[in-house]
Amino acid sequence: MSESTPLTGDMPKEDFRRFGHEIVDWIADYFERMETLPVLSQNAPHALTDALPKSAPPEGESFSQIFGDVDNLILPAVTHWNHPNFHGLFSTSTSSVGVFGEMLAAAFDMKAMLWRTSPASTELEPVVLDWLRQMTGLPEDFHGLIYDTASISTLHAIAMARERLNLKIRENGMSGRTDLPLLRVYCSEQTHSSIDKAVILLGLGRKSLVKIPVNERFEMDAEALREAIRDDLSAGHAPLCVVATVGTTSTTSVDPIDRIADICRRNHVFLHVDAAYAGSAAIVPEFQSYFKGWERADSIVMNPHKWLFTPFDLSVLYVRDLDLLKRTFSLVAEYLRVTEEVQNQMDYGIQLGRRFRSLKLWFVMRYFGQEGLIARIREHCRLARLFAGWVDDAADFETLAPVKFALVCFRAVPPGVADPDALNERLMNAVNASGAAYLSHTKLDDRFTLRLSVGSIRVEERHLQKVWDLLNETLKTLL
Ligand SMILES: *Cc1c(COP(=O)(O)O)cnc(C)c1O
Repeated sequence: MSESTPLTGDMPKEDFRRFGHEIVDWIADYFERMETLPVLSQNAPHALTDALPKSAPPEGESFSQIFGDVDNLILPAVTHWNHPNFHGLFSTSTSSVGVFGEMLAAAFDMKAMLWRTSPASTELEPVVLDWLRQMTGLPEDFHGLIYDTASISTLHAIAMARERLNLKIRENGMSGRTDLPLLRVYCSEQTHSSIDKAVILLGLGRKSLVKIPVNERFEMDAEALREAIRDDLSAGHAPLCVVATVGTTSTTSVDPIDRIADICRRNHVFLHVDAAYAGSAAIVPEFQSYFKGWERADSIVMNPHKWLFTPFDLSVLYVRDLDLLKRTFSLVAEYLRVTEEVQNQMDYGIQLGRRFRSLKLWFVMRYFGQEGLIARIREHCRLARLFAGWVDDAADFETLAPVKFALVCFRAVPPGVADPDALNERLMNAVNASGAAYLSHTKLDDRFTLRLSVGSIRVEERHLQKVWDLLNETLKTLL
């Protein structure tokens, strides 16, 4: 191995080979010893910052030294999303083949903008997304596009909906205009915060966002939506878009998509379905009923990086009207003008270059196959129901929302506790501080609610048993 780094050119090829093998071994060891590591980083805030030099090294350092600092500095600052006892937020994880996809995508380093600069990405992406469309049971007229996150997919969807109103906003903008009605976007009280951010960014403002109430199962009240649209229309406002959710973030509740689609159709309102989390479960035949009506949406977002064992990031937006998406975003500068009659990926979004993300999803779908992916999601849902059963049977605990997919909302309710909110917050913090598991929380009907999400490709029944024992033991010590 060369000791000093060269002043020109890349790393010597024999070094690349050697360190490349070392890194793959490191990753393999990491996956194997995952369970011995604390789920949440035990670092205090700023610990990493304080340990790092204030400026870059003037001369190159040896890679062994750099790599050594991954163990010394970086690893202690990592919260292990891949850990089977990561149950907070949504438990998401990468498969090993997903890592291979990222390695190769980094090696190609293509910026998919024009077909010419990246035929592989331009042609693989629609094929892989059509496979996924078929697996989820969506009709043929949905076309998929990959973006980084659901937040960005949804931003593109609402931008499309705005363009569809033909208010010349692309040319004239919205500021200083007196000829525009108040544009309205509807979602439920349980909708993800990315909708709020999209309306902020699109110049609609939070004033445009109407939060429709939910029923006792946290599902959008379709009748209230119908009335809100009717009232807005009679007030001269312009309904722009409804965002309905299959699998809300707090509880994985499912809005009545079929009824919402009726309302949208009758009023010519764009329907976007946020299935960022639960969309992956549409591949499981017995869950199809939860998605009834989504095939009538104008756009749908789902995140293979959430629950399809694909490393972050990879979010899919399915749209019905691909031309509308193109009309919304296409802008071809002279230096990007080409003569081929082909799709150019830069025409379908705000980014010019795109990462070659479809490669890792192609790996995942081929390696596991439809049956393998279905079996894994089904197993996660079984484990969540098993855990919910333990909660329901225990005198000191209760569930707080129906278990639709693989998330359990619950809390401790031992008799004689004056402030269950404070108790549950302490319980969660104690479990998280132990390093053995990570849970997060939400507020449901003003009650502090623990959330346990099951979604790691490495999770087994014994992991659920472990966190259940831990919860019970910790509760005893708190009482
Ligand atoms: C996770 C989630 C999002 C946001 O996902 P990102 O990809 O991180 O932007 C949006 N909506 C729902 C329902 C989610 O669960």
